[in-house]
Amino acid sequence: MTALTRDIAAAESTDHDLIVIGGGVYGVCLTLEAARRGYRPLLLERGDFNAGTSWNSLRIVHGGLRYLQSMDVRRFFESVSERRWFFRQFPDLVGVMPCLMPLYNRGLKRRSTFGMALRINDALSLRRNVGVRADRHLPHTGLVSDEQVAEWFPRVDRDGLRGGGRWFDGVMRNHQRLVMEMLRWAVDAGATVLNYTEAKALTTHAGAVRGVEAVDRVTGTAHLFTAPVVVNAAGPRCVAVAETLDQAHPELFRPSVAFNLLIDHEPLASCAVALEPKLPDARTYFVLPWEVNGRPRVLAGTFHAPWRNDRPFDDPTPDESLVATFLNDLNTAVPGLALRREHVLRVYAGLLPAEEEGTEHTAHRPVWVDHGKANGPAGLFSVSGVKYTTARLVAEQTLHRVFGRKLRDYRPAAARPAPQDGLDFAVYRSPANTPEAIRRIASLESVVYLDDMIHRRADWGADPAAEADARAALSDVIGDTPPTRALDADAA
Ligand SMILES: Cc1cc2nc3c(=O)[nH]c(=O)nc-3n(C[C@H](O)[C@H](O)[C@H](O)COP(=O)(O)OP(=O)(O)OC[C@H]3O[C@@H](n4cnc5c(N)ncnc54)[C@H](O)[C@@H]3O)c2cc1C
Repeated sequence: MTALTRDIAAAESTDHDLIVIGGGVYGVCLTLEAARRGYRPLLLERGDFNAGTSWNSLRIVHGGLRYLQSMDVRRFFESVSERRWFFRQFPDLVGVMPCLMPLYNRGLKRRSTFGMALRINDALSLRRNVGVRADRHLPHTGLVSDEQVAEWFPRVDRDGLRGGGRWFDGVMRNHQRLVMEMLRWAVDAGATVLNYTEAKALTTHAGAVRGVEAVDRVTGTAHLFTAPVVVNAAGPRCVAVAETLDQAHPELFRPSVAFNLLIDHEPLASCAVALEPKLPDARTYFVLPWEVNGRPRVLAGTFHAPWRNDRPFDDPTPDESLVATFLNDLNTAVPGLALRREHVLRVYAGLLPAEEEGTEHTAHRPVWVDHGKANGPAGLFSVSGVKYTTARLVAEQTLHRVFGRKLRDYRPAAARPAPQDGLDFAVYRSPANTPEAIRRIASLESVVYLDDMIHRRADWGADPAAEADARAALSDVIGDTPPTRALDADAA
């Protein structure tokens, strides 16, 4: 049985091979990649696992069609290969998502240009289905007629329509379970993972890393963990963490804001639709049919904006004016759509690394700092990535930087563990479970607060009304703990 036990004393008395700071998808993938190769990693997360940027993603596992537009072929190949990794390892949690872009003969979205891009996409991703379960195979892409577009997307603006382009990507229908399954796998392979444990300082000896001082944010007690390697994968906080442990490297992360909206509206189409309002310099948005607590909804994203320095760094919530602009863009793109602020159930916001300070344009590549080579302690590394989709690849590349040619291969025995007895995915669909099942999840999956269970072991609270019901239903079993947002505000 694989249990994520929050045993800080045991972690303190173990010599780890590396310590990973940050339990977002980058830190989780790094921990998993290290454990699968026979290392003993320790993951420290200051809040709950997957509660930061990763929780707010649009949940698309990109194949990289968009990178063909900028001729970034390397990024395209990386995305295709990582999408296949997700399909191969997690076919139960990553589904095939048909995508449609209505075409109006504007710029690169001309029918002829888009058709060529789709053909190149198919030719360059011939191996996209190798080793993937048959029901997760991605079909060929192609151009479709106006009638076909209107059948899938009845509200399409038919004025000037020149048919559409259709392709396929991956979608994480339950990203909470995906991260938990990666963590279970890592622990099964030998990792230790601790949530609510914040890295506070580095310990060194003769200029080399010895370990990390950390604080248990539940009890307030200080702890010392040992390892000769520390990797800072703290997402938006990675510059601050680098500064605490050694010195700031601003090139790691220049913040920009990005957000998605969960909208109380019937799906606009039977597939994901790429929408571009007919406005100068219009952005392209993705609108996905979504389901929350059994109800049909719309998930729309992603809106990007420059970061304003006068805002608290830990709160990426966008200004209301940006939310209004996003809704207006969607209303402009779809005739008759009259979305208003009260339709927005949830704003999923996060910080992403920008190409340059003060812009909304997301960086194209991950950034690594080997602190030992920059006059810092040997054995300290920092990494910051751009996409959920490529987090595993960046983890592998990070391990190459850390261990060089000595990097071990995967151990064949370290395969993904089967679901816990009695806890198949059906149990996570609704909070209407027996108290025993809830207690088992809580004890096996390091649940500290009620929010952990509602938002990050399952997805029972996306709809605020359902969140209140879930809190009421579960507080007797888990205890009525304060919302974890309030804990963060206390600590800020
Ligand atoms: C709105 C939005 C939509 C997106 N959509 C997509 C998409 O559809 N597809 C895609 O591929 N990508 C998408 N992305 C990008 C993707 O979500 C991010 O690249 C990814 O989640 C970043 O993960 P991370 O682990 O670096 O950061 P985070 O998830 O923020 O994790 C960093 C963690 O470090 C922890 N931490 C900080 N300081 C400490 C400390 N001192 N000690 C211990 N822990 C610490 C934090 O608490 C946090 O949990 C989207 C991003 C956003 C914001």
